[in-house]
Amino acid sequence: MVKTILTCPQCGSADIFYENAMITGIIYHCKKCDYIGPVVLERDLIDEEIEAMKQGRVKEKKR
Ligand SMILES: [Zn+2]
Repeated sequence: MVKTILTCPQCGSADIFYENAMITGIIYHCKKCDYIGPVVLERDLIDEEIEAMKQGRVKEKKR
């Protein structure tokens, strides 16, 4: 199973959350650099990151 994460186009952080938008659609908000916008980069999780999540070294929002 391939997992993907959303990352910030500015700083590359995966600390992204949805900001509720009105009519325009989804807006994303990066906690790290305060980027706010509709564009985020989606990328596959690499095995190392999945391992890290399993071991609890990386925060995972959904369980
Ligand atoms: Zn950012």
